[in-house]
Amino acid sequence: MSYELCKKVRDLTPYDPLQGNYDLRLDANESYLSLSDSLKEKAAAIAAQTALNRYPDPYATELCAAFGDYYGVDSKLVTAGNGSDELIGLIVGALLQKGEKIANLTPDFSMYRFYGEIYENPVVQIPKGEDFSIGPQAVIDEVKRQDVKMLIFSNPCNPTSVGLAAEDVRKIVRGVDALVVLDEAYMDFWDQSLLSEVSDYDNLIILKTCSKAIGMAALRVGFAVANEVITKALKAVKSPYNVNSISQAIAACVLKDKAFLRQCEDEIIASAQTLKEGIQALAAKYPALERVFDSCTNFVYIKTAVAKEIYQKLLQKSIAVRCFGGYLRISTDSIENNRRLFTALEEILSALD
Ligand SMILES: *Cc1c(COP(=O)(O)O)cnc(C)c1O
Repeated sequence: MSYELCKKVRDLTPYDPLQGNYDLRLDANESYLSLSDSLKEKAAAIAAQTALNRYPDPYATELCAAFGDYYGVDSKLVTAGNGSDELIGLIVGALLQKGEKIANLTPDFSMYRFYGEIYENPVVQIPKGEDFSIGPQAVIDEVKRQDVKMLIFSNPCNPTSVGLAAEDVRKIVRGVDALVVLDEAYMDFWDQSLLSEVSDYDNLIILKTCSKAIGMAALRVGFAVANEVITKALKAVKSPYNVNSISQAIAACVLKDKAFLRQCEDEIIASAQTLKEGIQALAAKYPALERVFDSCTNFVYIKTAVAKEIYQKLLQKSIAVRCFGGYLRISTDSIENNRRLFTALEEILSALD
């Protein structure tokens, strides 16, 4: 008897995020804020009361209602997932027929391409401009020319931090004969969402996550919002009990505290502003930071030929950021911690010159 894994998975390596303890974790775009004391108490009570011997609500009814209420969408159009990452896998794996093409706008969130490949759907890469801008007509033409059945992209984009105006996104959604999966993971930090009009389209799924602005990355909660036809299909193909009971109940409780969430959002946006200004000031002084992209998110993206060196020197100072080839991606933290980052960067950059 002999068995060998099939070729497509044989040489894969598990996702390997940076591990270990660093004073500052600016590498994963999570919220740096923790829950209020009153929400922490409620979360503890929820965990204690949860019937762990029973399966969760398969449709996460209360959670979807709280999400719908917070974002102003009908909860009938909402499907909950074990993080939006699970939903990306589900959408790519279940909503395409074998061999149908999926398109990415590159560079973008790496999981889109990964799932496309795993599910054996050819991945068409449509490159962005040098400034990471997206030309809607060029995207529409390429999707048509290549007979793409699913277009997936993030707006604003992770990792580039660049945003595409709602009008341009609408143009793309209306212009293609393909399902558009629009990942609005960072739209809480910008104002060009299509969420309120999702049911106007027969080909749009919007993804949201509780891992970024909502500050609950540990709970693994994400959402897909689409018209009723698509939502019915998503609920039919998902694994029945995908979101655990504790995550459902705690996330619902947090989403109901709108005042707290809006305050967190304002605070993150304000701190991100100081991050952008601080990094721009450093770029004006140190040409090694070649370009800082206009960010619509809670992080900045920087073009620099010395990305790797800066990344490693920051780690030595117990500050973790993300390095992508010749680019650095840095998440915002509190205004005070951002200052600590600037000091560290200044030391590194002045020593490089
Ligand atoms: C972080 C992130 C996600 C993943 O969110 P989870 O809900 O934590 O799985 C999805 N899309 C983009 C673009 C992200 O940056």
